Amino acid sequence: MKTPQKLKNQSAIVTGADSGIGKAVAIALAEAGAKVLINYAHNQDAADEVVNTIKDAGGKAFAYQCDVSKENEVKAMFAAAIKKYGTVDILVNNAGLQKDAKFVDMTLEQWNTVININLTGQFLCSREAAKEFIKRGVVEKRSVAAGKIICMSSVHEIIPWAGHVNYAASKGGISMFMKSIAQELAPHRIRVAGIAPGAIQTPINKPAWETPEAMDKLLELIPYNRIGQPADVGKLAAWLASDDSDYITGTTIFVDGGMSLYPGFADNG
Ligand code: NAD
Repeated sequence: MKTPQKLKNQSAIVTGADSGIGKAVAIALAEAGAKVLINYAHNQDAADEVVNTIKDAGGKAFAYQCDVSKENEVKAMFAAAIKKYGTVDILVNNAGLQKDAKFVDMTLEQWNTVININLTGQFLCSREAAKEFIKRGVVEKRSVAAGKIICMSSVHEIIPWAGHVNYAASKGGISMFMKSIAQELAPHRIRVAGIAPGAIQTPINKPAWETPEAMDKLLELIPYNRIGQPADVGKLAAWLASDDSDYITGTTIFVDGGMSLYPGFADNG
């Protein structure tokens, strides 16, 4: 069955859309009718592949290189999307990475890289999106909201993670960043929401699922007993971007098969 075109005539920017979750989000938004800027940092071939997948299915997309932690590059990316599609209706702040180390061994560079891309990147992109949404306002035939911002967080916005303090701190930061801008932007009819994935099968966490032993160990943390797929997150993002979720703002939805349910307590603690 064909997906209903709930994002028809809208345009979207998805950061880090050449891989994993971002790729699935971009494809889901395009299936729902949105025109999508496929942002990538380095891998143009992978980004072109996503564009071709979307075009082959009858959708519209183009690839654009930008490091989300660089202010001038983010501004140029928004200018490119607006030039191509007239405006931007949806931003999905998805780009992110890990630079893991034991806390006492973590370098300032590892700390800064993760905070700059995972958290400051979301600030830079959301600020450009909000400016455009406020300037344009609501266009009723497209959406009852003036714009939608979706912030990719993680279960590690609430679950502490030894050996990954830079990553967990960036995701905890996203939670409060998302809520604060949701509060500030709601009067402009701009909705902001977070998505907190659990373990989703992508390159970022390959060591956690690539061998049967690693997968068994991972599944101990997932009551629903399967690893998540990028499409699990893509479908949620398309719904959060649509008017079907119009009364939702300032909250994070967990898509984690129960990882955040303290599974260690399932057997009497
Ligand atoms: P991935 O490695 O497949 O994708 C990460 C994407 O971010 C890539 O497209 C990469 O090019 C992009 N990126 C990295 N640095 C960038 C930069 N400076 N500018 C622009 N893009 C940049 O991993 P993924 O699992 O798809 O991760 C996507 C998001 O989901 C991340 O924010 C990650 O923290 C989050 N997440 C993933 C999981 C999981 O289990 N896979 C769980 C929770 C949260």
